Amino acid sequence: MKNIKDYSISELKQELEKIGEKPYRADQIYKWLYKVNVTSFDEMTDLSLALREKLKQEFTICNYNILEKQVSSDGTVKYLFDILDGNAIETVVMEYKHGRTICVSSQVGCRMGCKFCASTGISFIRNLSSGEIVEEILAVEKDLDIKISNVVFMGIGEPFDNFDNVMKAIEIINSPKGLEIGARHISISTCGVVPKIYEIADRDMQCTLSISLHQANNEKRSAMMPINNKYNIEELMKACRYYIEKTNKRISFEYALAKDNNDNEQDAKELVNLLKGMLCHVNLIPINKIQDGKFSKSTNENIIKFRDYLNNQGIVATIRRELGSDIDAACGQLRRKRGEEK
Ligand code: SAH
Repeated sequence: MKNIKDYSISELKQELEKIGEKPYRADQIYKWLYKVNVTSFDEMTDLSLALREKLKQEFTICNYNILEKQVSSDGTVKYLFDILDGNAIETVVMEYKHGRTICVSSQVGCRMGCKFCASTGISFIRNLSSGEIVEEILAVEKDLDIKISNVVFMGIGEPFDNFDNVMKAIEIINSPKGLEIGARHISISTCGVVPKIYEIADRDMQCTLSISLHQANNEKRSAMMPINNKYNIEELMKACRYYIEKTNKRISFEYALAKDNNDNEQDAKELVNLLKGMLCHVNLIPINKIQDGKFSKSTNENIIKFRDYLNNQGIVATIRRELGSDIDAACGQLRRKRGEEK
């Protein structure tokens, strides 16, 4: 059956017309789904009983079950959701001064195979639909009785490998009739699917773009991230410069620091050469060691040295605060653990 949350408001109007209903009903349904966050058609009390029955015949309202929920002492909450087809996905909510940020998954598994990521080694199963992505937000808002203010596509999956569904999810998240979260409060992170960077630049979206760079040297980046064999650093940077020129927006480069791998002065130098003069920001992430992963976290001293070097060379770099380190909050860990237990 069709998931009613898979439709933008204009599409839902068309769907309703197809079953002989007035298009303005879509506005009512949207209000119930995204403003009231109901879990059944029966709660849509300004629709006639007959229409509610008809909707039940045509659509499901996808409501996730919580398989596991971990709460960190710093307020970070991590969910493992049962997405109703036997699969599970992870969603994390973090509390910042400026509001609550949700980190959503875009796929069940991932095809990118980055060597340091917990999702690697667990096979790719399928894309999430736009409604399933939006449901992560609704499920969390319902469970915690909160309003999410920021959305980052940094959970499991490569958002640019599920481009159309992610774009439609953003449309629903963004819509004043939907979740009404401003595009400036939405970030998409990619490991470097170059053609989609051009596409997003041409769409002139107001979302923030994050690039998971992690290495400034092709040989090392290819060893860490297979995507680099397809689109190397030069091609990636060309796309990034195009994006900046087109949108006049700053790009955020993610750089996970791994001990004795990408954290010495030579690495910092190469990174400076790559980014010098670009409208960008570097987000330094102390790498999270995954089980049997060969990358381990840089020392605090090296992390600070690395940041200071970049800053002294005129590149804005900050160290990402680690949240949820007392729970399995880092990328894919909960799902991975569960997979191993099974
Ligand atoms: N596929 C997208 C989004 C998911 S990963 C991407 O690659 O950007 C979200 C971020 O977490 C990426 O920057 C990714 O490189 C980073 N990440 C993955 N595993 C990590 C780990 N073990 N430690 C630190 N950061 C990690």
